[in-house]
Amino acid sequence: MASATWSQTFTMAKKRTAYRVWLSEVMLQQTQVQTVIPYYLRFLTKFPNVTALANASLDDVLHAWAGLGYYSRARNLHKTAILIRDKFHGKFPTSLESMIALPGIGRSTASAILAFCDQQTLPILDGNVKRVLSRLHAISTVPQKNEKELWLLAQHYTPEKTDIIDYTQAIMDLGAMICTRHSPKCTECPVAQECLAYTRNETALYPVKAVKKSLPIKKIFLMVLINKKMKFS
Ligand code: SF4
Repeated sequence: MASATWSQTFTMAKKRTAYRVWLSEVMLQQTQVQTVIPYYLRFLTKFPNVTALANASLDDVLHAWAGLGYYSRARNLHKTAILIRDKFHGKFPTSLESMIALPGIGRSTASAILAFCDQQTLPILDGNVKRVLSRLHAISTVPQKNEKELWLLAQHYTPEKTDIIDYTQAIMDLGAMICTRHSPKCTECPVAQECLAYTRNETALYPVKAVKKSLPIKKIFLMVLINKKMKFS
């Protein structure tokens, strides 16, 4: 299990549905793929579809999430499942606008769901894809301040007519399994020859990290005046 790739996990989970893609995207937002895999499979066993998740108590959902951290993700999953059950008759919406109006679903997660399950040609830009693009183009600004350029690049690489599912899975797996945060496996990378960070031997420099502001140190002096003649009664 520990060596399974994310694509293999989808295969183990048998069928790619909007619910499964959504769950995987949310779990992967702040957690590494190898940590996510057992949680993902357990969660699917307990809550096999969006209606089962909506019908569960929040306590049960948080219990299944325990250990993954960032619990607002689990709360939003539950809230969104209830909305989908009650407003959309248990089916995920198929427009980007309706999808991103749901709690905890951003543009990238919405696009991944619509690309995988409705073959819509939409770019994705999760944390892993941001890292790949930042290294590929040796982008010298921090990703948080460069969303617009990164979205344009993501759009540029997204195929317009065909292969949207293969492309989306490939870029996600590249970021999660090859172009990892620490020690990327550049010799196994299919885009190594085009990668500016790799060809310049500068992979450790990208994505550029935000400089932490050093907190100012303030010194204060206090003087206590004591009047020995004062009596407290
Ligand atoms: S060559 Fe290395 S740094 Fe560049 S995209 Fe591939 S894995 Fe990432």
